[in-house]
Amino acid sequence: MRRFVYLKEEDIPKYWYNVKADLPFDLDPPIDPQNMKPMDPQKLEVLFPKALVMQEGTKERYIEIPQKVREAYALYRPTPLVRAIGFEKALKSPARIYYKNESVSPTGSHKLNTALAQAYYNLVEGTTKISTETGAGQWGSALAFAGAYFNLDVNVFMVKISFEQKPARKYMVNLFNGKIHPSPSDFTNYGKKILEIKPDSTGSLGMAISEAIEFALSKEKTHYSLGSVLDHVLLHQTVIGQETQKQLELVGEEPDVLIGCFGGGSNFGGFTLPFIPLKMKKKSLEIVACEPTECPSFTKGEYKYDYGDTAHLTPMLKMYTLGSEFVPPPIYAGGLRYHGASPIISRLVKENYMKAIAIPQDEAFEYAKLFAITEGIIPAPETSHAIAGVARYAKEFAKSGEEKVIVFNFSGHGLLDLNSYVGK
Ligand SMILES: *Cc1c(COP(=O)(O)O)cnc(C)c1O
Repeated sequence: MRRFVYLKEEDIPKYWYNVKADLPFDLDPPIDPQNMKPMDPQKLEVLFPKALVMQEGTKERYIEIPQKVREAYALYRPTPLVRAIGFEKALKSPARIYYKNESVSPTGSHKLNTALAQAYYNLVEGTTKISTETGAGQWGSALAFAGAYFNLDVNVFMVKISFEQKPARKYMVNLFNGKIHPSPSDFTNYGKKILEIKPDSTGSLGMAISEAIEFALSKEKTHYSLGSVLDHVLLHQTVIGQETQKQLELVGEEPDVLIGCFGGGSNFGGFTLPFIPLKMKKKSLEIVACEPTECPSFTKGEYKYDYGDTAHLTPMLKMYTLGSEFVPPPIYAGGLRYHGASPIISRLVKENYMKAIAIPQDEAFEYAKLFAITEGIIPAPETSHAIAGVARYAKEFAKSGEEKVIVFNFSGHGLLDLNSYVGK
């Protein structure tokens, strides 16, 4: 039985795939809160390089990946697709389970796929500094690495509760010459304001985004960078799904269920969007986002226009949201604690191309531990939600005896999150 499905360096995709070219509808545009009209793309150029603003709005099917970015991808891509034989056995399931292993990147998650692209476009357009927020620290450390690789100065605002729970991520950002501030911080006016009202605030992604945007707007040659949610971020992540398609072809498999964990939608979207044309032909294909019960944007949220941050500096996006004021409980999966959801994925869930299920933290850890023992790889707390989702499906198929193919995205490893496993 074949366990690993490897590709060669020349199989690294040459294009990012833009699902908007294949959808039978247009997405609702971002709205400018100042006049409640569709956002003028030029206004976004104070925050993002022109190339990314263009990618945000385009309906071109394929966007060429710059050679320098492909070279950087070759540090860790193509990533392996792996058959989870041990996990299948432990679940006593006839299902064949495969995972796309994005944890082999230098910073341990899929986040580098867009960090490298964003750093590159900033560099070529003359930016010298970038600011960003980070929840669990995965995004902050990925952008710090990309900044070091392309020689940009990176400033990271990290949600305070995670800053305290996950000091290793801070060391990693510093190793890559990045600067990191616990948010809310006294580094920005917005952070100071929050600390005045609530000195013991544990922070939220919404607050950290507000601080990072304020920082970018107040400095010369400085841009802001977002690690999830936006269309261009999902676009960059489509290297995951495109490689997976090639790997499944090599072993003669077609997926019945695609699963990913869901925070803002970047790993889930990057993994599943290239399969949307297949979904249009094969209605039985299930595409399932696993969100935490503790931050249930899809299963308890509303589909409406909302702000991406707490200070309301961002455009309004049409998405499933718990409200921009929502501060989730301090669960370990810091990367899944966002109040909103990618507008592309939101619409696809609304139109029933995909669906979402909620997984409680304890269930996620139970199956993450089983996966670690049977597959020899320790999942990030975020990834654990996908694994528990896989287990739910695999056990269903065990009851019905169906030999289905489940493929999931292993978004990151948990080697820097071991403290969250204590006592599990
Ligand atoms: C950031 C992160 C997530 C959640 O973010 P998405 O944009 O929803 O992918 C999931 N898994 C890992 C390992 C992460 O670092």
